[in-house]
Amino acid sequence: MDHPLLARTLDILERLIAFDTRSSESNLPLIEYVRGALHGYGIESTPIHDASGTKANLYATIGPKDRPGLCLSGHTDVVPAAGQPWTVPAFHMTRASDRVLGRGAADMKGYLAVMLAMVPRFIDASRQTPVHLAFSYDEEVGCLGVRGLLSQLAAAPVKPLACIIGEPTSMQVAVAHKGKQAYRCCVRGLAGHSSLTHLGVNAADFAAEFATYLRRTARHLRENGMRDAAFEPPYTTVHTGRINGGIALNVIPDHAEVEFEIRNLPGDDPAVVIDAARSYTEHTLVPEMRAVHADSAIEWQPLIDYPALADQPADAWLAHLACTAAGNPRTRTVSFGSEGGLFQAIGVPTVVCGPGSIEHAHKADEYVTLAQLSQCLAFMDTLAERIAQRPLHATSRATDRSSCN
Ligand SMILES: [Zn+2]
Repeated sequence: MDHPLLARTLDILERLIAFDTRSSESNLPLIEYVRGALHGYGIESTPIHDASGTKANLYATIGPKDRPGLCLSGHTDVVPAAGQPWTVPAFHMTRASDRVLGRGAADMKGYLAVMLAMVPRFIDASRQTPVHLAFSYDEEVGCLGVRGLLSQLAAAPVKPLACIIGEPTSMQVAVAHKGKQAYRCCVRGLAGHSSLTHLGVNAADFAAEFATYLRRTARHLRENGMRDAAFEPPYTTVHTGRINGGIALNVIPDHAEVEFEIRNLPGDDPAVVIDAARSYTEHTLVPEMRAVHADSAIEWQPLIDYPALADQPADAWLAHLACTAAGNPRTRTVSFGSEGGLFQAIGVPTVVCGPGSIEHAHKADEYVTLAQLSQCLAFMDTLAERIAQRPLHATSRATDRSSCN
């Protein structure tokens, strides 16, 4: 059955989808819209801009500001739509009988629309325990934007008791995901005629050797590394995604690149793998290159770095709270990343739960069903009732702590 706030949610979602908030673009028009909507309810919000001033996070507290509350968080940016076979305009919400389509409908403007539609209810419910709303930017390009918000929160006198990030999980409560680090390694050798291989430094050869090293590392982790059956696959992975180099068959390549990533289980430190790989390039490959040409090098460029979200026993009260609100006692892990590990890193217990499916995200004709939006609204109703009844902090932790698997 449709939730009474569904119509309002769809009106807001229509506005949100119409903002072209691809990560390459400014998100300020969307942020101004959200600020205005909150202001209309008497809620002040604080933008936290990036260095260029063209993007911003937004943070608002509904209810008392002198104590910690429940944070609802989502990113405002979306992935591009160009080159995908869309049958409807990507940055315009299209209503169909059981769903709405548009870039970000699932990932994750649907959740943002629910957050905003719920504001009047949160105003009533948050007399004792506040609700914090967080809107970030540049999540899709490596969880970059939210760091500015989190460094402010980490230093603030009051930071949230807990956070629910509404990435699309089909309204199932996700308590963990792997972390990710990605790098581009640029190999600089020495060009020459391909008949005189001994006079050049073949960058493609060294790139291939490094990729082979990474493959050995991946095998070692698969066979001997940490395991966690909650994940698919249940071990830390290393993956080379792109190799290129060389301009012609008869020229020794003087430049090559390897892009690789590591996706680590919570508790498995990716720095161990990265340090060993750096050491391999510095102490094995580069000396061999420099024996021929002193200017040879392998340069590392970090591409992406976000931590894993760990299922922490001390945060079981939050998982239980979210499971109760979602009407589903089972928690899960997700294969995609989120800002959750960054919230957790500043001491804010975090779970991921939002409307829509990740299967429909980042694709042509991205959609969220009306049923999922209604389910998310009902989830928020339960959370609002819960915080209206009794404080979320201290005593509630004991009450809310019971196992949910
Ligand atoms: Zn997302």
